[in-house]
Amino acid sequence: MDLKEFIQMQYMKPDEIIKLQEKRLRKIIRFAYDNAKLYHDKLKSVNLKPEDIKKVEDLRKIPFSSKEDIVKDPFGAVGDKKNLYKLHTTSGTSGKGETIVYFTYNDWEHYAIQNARCLNSAGFTKDDIVYNATPYGMFFAGQVLHDGAKVLGAFIIPASTLKTGWAHINNIKNPFFKPTAFVGLPQYLLRWGHTYIAAGGEPSKSTLKKAYVLGEPVPPTVREKIEQMWGLDCRIGYGLSEIGASAECDEKNGYHWCEDEVIVEVIDPKTGEPVEEDEKGELVYTTLTKTGTLAIRYKSGDESAILGRDCPCGRTHAKLRLIETRLDDLMKVKGTLVSPYTIEHAMFAHDIKGFLCVIDKEKDSDVIRIYVKAKESNTLQNQLISEIKTTASFSPTFIKFIKDLPQIGRKGKRVVDLRKESPLNKLVYEFEDSVSK
Ligand SMILES: [Zn+2]
Repeated sequence: MDLKEFIQMQYMKPDEIIKLQEKRLRKIIRFAYDNAKLYHDKLKSVNLKPEDIKKVEDLRKIPFSSKEDIVKDPFGAVGDKKNLYKLHTTSGTSGKGETIVYFTYNDWEHYAIQNARCLNSAGFTKDDIVYNATPYGMFFAGQVLHDGAKVLGAFIIPASTLKTGWAHINNIKNPFFKPTAFVGLPQYLLRWGHTYIAAGGEPSKSTLKKAYVLGEPVPPTVREKIEQMWGLDCRIGYGLSEIGASAECDEKNGYHWCEDEVIVEVIDPKTGEPVEEDEKGELVYTTLTKTGTLAIRYKSGDESAILGRDCPCGRTHAKLRLIETRLDDLMKVKGTLVSPYTIEHAMFAHDIKGFLCVIDKEKDSDVIRIYVKAKESNTLQNQLISEIKTTASFSPTFIKFIKDLPQIGRKGKRVVDLRKESPLNKLVYEFEDSVSK
């Protein structure tokens, strides 16, 4: 497919999108029933036959599937077992175990095109020099963004993960590299920016002019910080290895899905019933073109809302509200439900370089210890306490100013709930021991 054709796909007429979705849906349900045990059994459990699924609404008759199903039997969700090309895995940090996702060559090509569309939506062009700092390897993002940028025709610097932030800063500064567009976790740009500034550098004078960040929810205060610090335009993307990818356009207020590839439903996680447009609920996906690991009515655990197909940018594929919360990440703190997103948004509204919020239990009550990387100041401390109280409805047990923060896990978690068991807790205990000495 040539570049023009895939860019054009983002502007299909809504009725054409639905027609294509239904044609592909009928085909994929038949294929799943005949070839993937997981979905054959799901349909059979409610006496459904593939021919009962004709329209998008008919999907509601099929029972949900979930990450747990794929973790339990990864091959049970695979359709075309003979033509598999490769696999990728997702981290098991949510405590649900590792998900193995299989791809045929054709699946991967579709993913590359989806990512090229996302990069195009995020303002990247063939003239960009893309600095790809997402990890290449078992995790799918590095390679799929590499292949997306390749379809777009851009020049790629495959940085992946490097040992230190300085190694990346030096690459970005390298006069022979001159990257214009960054891809990676938002907190990389935050961390490297602070490191660079502390050494007298000026990130805003780098050659980077665009960033496409993904891998974690991005509060508005974090985006603002990145944009100011680096003097660039930052767009947010969202994707799951089981499903595909989506990205913000110039409007910067939601991600456009590739609706020709995926049907998105939003449900009330308690009742399983669909919610109204604009109303928040759990995202449920059905993939239409993949034949390796299939996702049929796959519950994502992510909370968002469908914002409709009308967007001033002209793209016609439905937009989803920016994701703030993974339902698994919601925590009850002192009786109130809080998400890490809310805490991050509150903290980054102030002049800090980073923080770690530790939620723990002592003598049956919740305690919240916050470590802040910033210059010690009573004013800042009071501002942070009042901000947290307003946005997250709890008061921290203490706020301690420190010089350095540990990296908790690959994604550098900033909010850790020690009340839940996780292999990452050990790092937090070690860190807290070291600062209390
Ligand atoms: Zn748009």
